[in-house]
Formats: sequence, structure tokens, C-alpha cells
Amino acid sequence: MSVRSIRLILGDQLNINHSWFEKGDDGIIYVMAEQRSETDYTLHHAQKLIAVLSAMRRFAADLEARGHRLRYFRLGDADNPQNFPDTLATVVQEHKPARFEWQTPDEYRLQRIIAQAAEGFEREEGMEVREWGSEHFIAKAADFDPLMKNGKPPTMERFYRAMRGKTGILMSDGGPLGGRWNYDADNRSPLDDQADIIPPLRHPRDETALWDEIKAAGVRFFGNPNASAIAWPADRSQALEVLEHFLEHRLVDFGRYQDAMATGEPFLAHGLISFALNVKLISPMEVVEAAARRWERHAAVDPRLLASLEGFIRQVMGWREYMRQVYRVSMPGYERNNALSAKRNLPDWYWSGETDLNCLSQSIGQSLEHAYAHHIQRLMVTGNFAMLAGIDPDQVDQWDLGVYIDAFQWVEITNTRGMSQYADGGMVATKPYAASARYINRMSDYCKSCRFNPNKRHGGDACPFNSLYWHFLHRNRDVLGGNHRLAMPYKTWDRFGESERRAIIEYADDFLASL
Ligand code: FAD
Ligand code: SF4
Repeated sequence: MSVRSIRLILGDQLNINHSWFEKGDDGIIYVMAEQRSETDYTLHHAQKLIAVLSAMRRFAADLEARGHRLRYFRLGDADNPQNFPDTLATVVQEHKPARFEWQTPDEYRLQRIIAQAAEGFEREEGMEVREWGSEHFIAKAADFDPLMKNGKPPTMERFYRAMRGKTGILMSDGGPLGGRWNYDADNRSPLDDQADIIPPLRHPRDETALWDEIKAAGVRFFGNPNASAIAWPADRSQALEVLEHFLEHRLVDFGRYQDAMATGEPFLAHGLISFALNVKLISPMEVVEAAARRWERHAAVDPRLLASLEGFIRQVMGWREYMRQVYRVSMPGYERNNALSAKRNLPDWYWSGETDLNCLSQSIGQSLEHAYAHHIQRLMVTGNFAMLAGIDPDQVDQWDLGVYIDAFQWVEITNTRGMSQYADGGMVATKPYAASARYINRMSDYCKSCRFNPNKRHGGDACPFNSLYWHFLHRNRDVLGGNHRLAMPYKTWDRFGESERRAIIEYADDFLASL
């Protein structure tokens, strides 16, 4: 059968509900390829490598079972060119199709590579080319662009309210269900005695054979592969089971303990759905609709449930969609943002977890073990420390992009440079998420077993977060001094006596010199 068209499916485009797959067509060949260009563009956590390739292989098997024609390149195949332009050229030579089709890649890097390959096919082979939408995100450019002012994105809150209005999710009589748009203030409890969180549903499976293939190919990695019991969802049905279990048993605790951190509790009441969402095994709209369908009526009469439900929907339909749009309108320049001119090297212990700052040791150790840390660990521990210490955002990006199971540049960089490092100068966050030990001590049990004292600013065993916090504000006063949301801390700093300020700065300088 001659081939009319080849269609590329990237490793994070495993969306079986895409309109491409509505009916079979023998004139179309789908192309999927495990590529060294993708395994090697940054240093990845071993579980991320396994999880993506294993989900790709299951998706490929599903496609074939549904009768679609597929050309699949495995990592170790001798004829695998290991990059997309050459892989696509190989398939074009094999089949001489009239047309090349692809779905808009989420990542700018891939968008450029694939678009250039398409231009080449059009120019040199006289092929017709067509780019399709990925049919994944809830928000369109038309939902976001009109909210921008002078090229600046709206606040997340403004965008989120507009999305609530547009979708009708958590709305009642034209206003927010329960009368409030935002329940963040109700969602800030540390883990307490009342907590009785049901553990997450996971799908441990043996991927040793795949892991051996990855290692045999010579791919560099870090972190614990856990290949004999890797537990991230491998296909849509597992992803739906995780979602279902979370909604039924764990969402009720999501809001209250959303910001809590606890030793030996890597997952708490978080959804663990980001990997499945980002490779598109499930869609954000189905997640949000499933949550609302199940709980909206009950939430209308149960404030705790409403706070949880709203908090969860805010993450998926608010933050996730918002970051997608910020990335779209601000790349490629966003990659170069370094508003605070941070240039210190990332400490080596980010790659080992071996530090006596217990909150960092716990959060990094857990990330190396599970390829996962929840939002507050990423923001207020590893991210906060990096910002306070003035670490080069390129290096923070590389770490965040490599270590997390869900890290793809569009959602990693906006969170890292924007939300956590303030490297975009306030595009995503209205003020830096900078915090001293007081916050970490309030929201976690980490300080209890730390050799540092969270209540001291300098001297002896004073917690470095405290002096670094003031050092950060002091050294960045030129950039941050005019931010009215920082007026209080600057006032406090100015009220410290001269010798107190000097002692704080000296303690922080000594600590920074030891990194
Ligand atoms: P839950 O806490 O259960 O939240 C539910 C879902 O909401 C998540 O699965 C995710 O899809 C979405 N969500 C929540 N917060 C955000 C956010 N700020 N931005 C976008 N989506 C959000 N998320 C990624 O998917 N990939 C990344 O590479 C990534 N890097 C991050 C880096 C830093 C420095 C920070 C502070 C956050 C980052 N996040 C990233 C956001 C967030 O930490 C993860 O989405 C979340 O921890 C995933 O775990 P979960 O599924 O259990 O999430
Ligand atoms: Fe982290 Fe400081 Fe608390 Fe130790 S005392 S766990 S370093 S915040």
C-alpha cells in the first residue's frame, strides 16, 4: 500500500484521543522515535528516561492494535539516526509520501527543529506539510492574548478567573461557587495529628529490560532508576486509575495539606498526575471536569471540600494553563532571563543530597529517590535556597529539568525562572518567593532534626536560610527595593541596628564562601 502521509508523534504527545486517530487509514504511517537528541539534551533522572520510553512503547503497541501503521525507532536500533530531522528524512526516503504532518510541539526547541525539517521537505521534496494542534490544552491564545498589557502577561489570578468564566467550572449564577474565587488562605496547614491521608495508587512494574537497553545505549543519567518497581503510569488506563483514586480518596486532603512538608512523606495528598498530563496520557479538561463532576455539589455545602477542589482546579486549569501561555508568548527570550544577575555555581550536593541543611537533604534526597518533590519543596526549599544563594538560573533550570518526572521545558522553565528564581523580573510572580527558616519550620518537621537553629540569624548554629534571606534582600535592593510587596521586610531590615546587619551579612558571606 503506498503511503500518502507520514505523521510524527513525539514522546510527550501520547494523546490517543487526538483527532488523528479517529479512524484507521492505511495511507498514513505514524512515526515514533526514541532519540539520543532527546535523552541527551539535558542530564535526566533515570526514572524519567524509563517512564517516557516505556509510555511511548505502550502507546505504539496500542496504536498498532487499533490498526494504525507505525514506524518505530528504538534507542538501540542500528538504523536509528538519533535525531528528528534525519529520522524523518529516513522515513521519507523509505516511503516517498506526498505529505508530512506533525502536532505543534510543546517545547520551543522541538518546534524549531520540526518546523525546519518540514520546510526542507516542502522545498526539496515538493511535499505538502501540515502542522496540527496538539488538542491538549484548555486555553487558546485567544483566551490569553487579550488579557496582556504592553506585552506583559496578566496575573495568574486574572487569567484563572477568566478561564473559570469561560468553562463554567466551579461557577454558580455567574459568580464563583461558594462566593470566593480563591481558597489559598485555607490551604496552608502543616501536617497535623488530624491527618489521615490515604496513600496514592501506584503501578509498580518491572522495567529492567528497558533500563538495560537504555544503559547499553550509553545514555547518561542520575538518580535511582528503581527499574524493577518503577511506579509512574505507563499508559492511559493506569493514568486514569491514579486520577480516579486521587479524586475519590485523596482530593479531600489536597487543599489543607497542599503546602505541608514532612519527613518520609514524599507524596502527602498530591495528585501525582503531572507525568501523565505532560505526556498527554490524560487531558487537563478531563481532569478538571472529573473533579468538578464528582465534588461540585458536595463542595457547595462543605467548605473544606470546596477549598480542596478549588485549590486543585486552580493548579490544573490555572497555573498549568497559565505557564503554557507565558511560555508561548515569551520564548525564546525567556531562557536568557536573569533579572537578579545570579551567577554562583549550583552546589555539588544538589546531585547527591549530601548536605547538613536537613530541609535540602530531605527534598533533594526524595527527588533523587522518586524523581518527584511536590510544589512547595521545589519552590520553598530547593528553589528558595538557590535564589537566596544567587545560583545561576541556567544551572537551576538544568537541575529542575533533569530531576523531575514531569519536567518538560515549557512548564519547568516558567516555574523555575519565573516563579521560583524571579529571573524574569516579575512576569510570573509579583514578588520573589523568598523565605527564611521561619516558613520552612512552620510548614515542615525538617528543622526538628536539623543541626541548624531556625530561630537564629547568625553565629554558631544559626540556620543559613535566615542570613541568606536578608543577604538576598540587601544585595538586590536596586532591583527589588521599589516592590511595594517587599516594603515590610525592607523596613524590618532597616530597623536592625548596624552591627546586627553586619553580623548577618558576614555570616551569610562565610556560608556562601563555603558552598
Ligand atoms: P499536584 O500538587 O497534585 O497538582 C495537580 C496538578 O496541577 C499537577 O499535576 C500539575 O499538572 C498542575 N500544577 C500544579 N502546580 C503547577 C504549576 N506551578 N505549574 C504548572 N502546573 C502545575 N510541573 C510540571 O509539570 N513540570 C515541571 O517541570 C515543573 N517544574 C517545577 C519547578 C519548580 C521550581 C516549581 C516550583 C514547580 C514546578 N512544577 C512543575 C509545578 C508543580 O510542582 C508540579 O506540577 C507538581 O508538583 C506535580 O505533582 P502532582 O501531580 O502531584 O501535583
Ligand atoms: Fe532547613 Fe534551616 Fe530548618 Fe535546617 S534549620 S531544616 S537548614 S530551615
